[in-house]
Amino acid sequence: MVQEKYNNIIAQPPKSVELQLTYCCNLHCDMCGQWGKSGIFRENIKNLRNQEITIDAWKNIIDQAAKWKSRINLWGGEPFLKKDIFKIIKYIKSKKLKCSVVTNGVLIDKYYKEIIDSKLDKIFLSIDGTREIHDKIRGKKGTFDKILKGINSLHDLKRKKNLKKPYIEILCTINKDNNKIIDKMPQVSRIFNADKLDLALLMFASSKTANDYRKEFTNRFGFLPKSQNGWILNKTGVNGLKLSEKINKMLYHNNDIFIKTIDNYKTISFKKWYAGSEYRFGFNHCLSPWLRLNIMPNGKANFCIDFPDYIIGDVKKESLSKIWNSEKAKIFREKYLKDGPLPICNRCCWLYNNYSRLIKEWKHEG
Ligand code: SF4
Ligand code: SF4
Repeated sequence: MVQEKYNNIIAQPPKSVELQLTYCCNLHCDMCGQWGKSGIFRENIKNLRNQEITIDAWKNIIDQAAKWKSRINLWGGEPFLKKDIFKIIKYIKSKKLKCSVVTNGVLIDKYYKEIIDSKLDKIFLSIDGTREIHDKIRGKKGTFDKILKGINSLHDLKRKKNLKKPYIEILCTINKDNNKIIDKMPQVSRIFNADKLDLALLMFASSKTANDYRKEFTNRFGFLPKSQNGWILNKTGVNGLKLSEKINKMLYHNNDIFIKTIDNYKTISFKKWYAGSEYRFGFNHCLSPWLRLNIMPNGKANFCIDFPDYIIGDVKKESLSKIWNSEKAKIFREKYLKDGPLPICNRCCWLYNNYSRLIKEWKHEG
């Protein structure tokens, strides 16, 4: 049963504030909802770049998040492309907040000293397979080795300085290119000397789900969304049954690695998950609008980071607490409580992961 605090349209302060520092990325991965073939940022990057808010605006956001004691996660595009990122991390740490970064890892080799110096707590590192598979997915040869070189330098410096942080968590999304070698990921995790391996199911929408979302969203909120266009996939190319067998064996044989799989692993049929996106799994209640606030590079705020259609406020005009319980935020929660998840939620990790457990994990990480 969902706790009462997540059934109220007025929410307690968010546990996590996500700062999407930039739209820019130095890779153009095929499957990316932002930069993939039909990614939502592709056509408009110059314009989007000009809208990015200043470092003072980011500091102002951090000051406000500090009052909530929220955890801060930096992401993008590729956040290490943001020239002020280390000033921002140091500022977050000066406020005694936990700070993590989601990165494709390509720039770690260039910035490993600055990363250590900034006292960053955690790096979520996207590694999608063995050397060949990773480079194929990222669309650039040599990417895997470049990241590995950076991570090795980072570990060396950590050792020299006797530091545990930043922790390294590998993020790997299971797709058509890597599902057959997914059992090799624990070995990849060892090569990177990672603290954790996180396997995620593919986020996608069939044309039908995308269309259902467009209709349902328009009914609920009165305007057309467009983020679904970056995620349309009608054939995933993954045999869910074989995948399930592989993962079971992999978990059995790799006790030495901390592998984070899907919380609802036992109840989710991988066969159905990868066969299409019409069927919904997992929890019926997404906690994102109660736990997480995302600030986009232009200062606009939202709940669904991968589907930024519904904007609840703008940091250039309002304070974070006003935005968090703004009329628009309340309308989103109210309609969610009344009408349930949107069709696009069917393949979103917020419905299969247990975020109450995640909060405990955040505390445990210190
Ligand atoms: S590295 Fe990440 S943000 Fe950049 S194109 Fe690939 S998936 Fe998208
Ligand atoms: S499950 Fe739905 S409401 Fe929740 S974050 Fe995902 S897309 Fe947004």
